[in-house]
Amino acid sequence: MKAAVWYGKKDLRVEERELKPLKDHEVKVRVGWAGICGSDLHEYEEGPVFMPSEAKDELTGEQTPLTMGHEFAGVVEEVGSEVKNIKAGDRVAINPTLTHGNKPEIVDIYDGFSFIGLHGDGGFTTYANVPEANAYLLPESMTLQDGALVEPMAVAVQAVKEADMQFGDTVAVFGAGPIGLVTILAAKAAGATRIIALDLSEKRLEKAKELGATDIINSGDTDPVVAIRKLEKDGVDVAFEVAGVEPTFKQAIDATKARGTMVIVSIFAKSIDWNPMQLTGSGVKVTSTIAYSPTTFQQTVDLMGTGQLNPRGIITDKIQLDDIVDKGFEALSNDKSQAKILVELSGEK
Ligand SMILES: [Zn+2]
Repeated sequence: MKAAVWYGKKDLRVEERELKPLKDHEVKVRVGWAGICGSDLHEYEEGPVFMPSEAKDELTGEQTPLTMGHEFAGVVEEVGSEVKNIKAGDRVAINPTLTHGNKPEIVDIYDGFSFIGLHGDGGFTTYANVPEANAYLLPESMTLQDGALVEPMAVAVQAVKEADMQFGDTVAVFGAGPIGLVTILAAKAAGATRIIALDLSEKRLEKAKELGATDIINSGDTDPVVAIRKLEKDGVDVAFEVAGVEPTFKQAIDATKARGTMVIVSIFAKSIDWNPMQLTGSGVKVTSTIAYSPTTFQQTVDLMGTGQLNPRGIITDKIQLDDIVDKGFEALSNDKSQAKILVELSGEK
């Protein structure tokens, strides 16, 4: 079967690969659609970041070269002998997170985690074998394309839960890339009345407005903190940092009201120079999230199933596996108007 395989930085190859034997607790998924994620792009542009290139990953037992893709959904074709709750023909979205599972789920991920599609073979291919526990049944109302969007959407649902949002809260989202966009959707679903999106790209800001931002601010044209405080003089209740750089980190704190919450959602590629007195002086609380718990992943499926969350608007292109480098990774690197690109595998509904 054909697969998009990561060999190294700027070296992603579409080539023939054998599917590994199905284990007793695994299901074999015929991949329908798979999304390209910002973390995939990091691996392509400056990897290895997470990909195990030196030694085998502890949780997957695998090592590069690996098939990428951790945002995918498909139809179960076959199940292992110990699989209990899933059968052939079921439509599933994959939660790619693997943990040791020794701790309560809200802290389990901090005990170490790996990702299907980053630390082990993933979904940019025809078939993927995944543990039954990582396959979530999709309701009738959701397509397999929707299923491929559950993973990024779940990141935003977790971030909004972390913020302890209330109806009527005011929100600022720093960064209108794919995760910024789903954060806007999640904040809106959680009852935010004002959602201010900030970015340097007009095209991204337009998209943010389309998806529910009430106000957009181009941080390149104007001081974002001054602009936010013109709209909300005491600052916002909650700020989400989804850009991952020093200026937005500080701005997100400055834009938040006293005892309000700033949530770090992004992955910081570099350390920053920062004085914690910014918190002491402002009374802002800073917290963070990484990925999502299994409960949050299931809630995201449920919320998408009822239509309370609908991230379809983040899709900016659908491409073929053969074109994944040029029309996928290179397009995302060079064109800021791109948000989520889906790769068509079986292409089933
Ligand atoms: Zn992702």
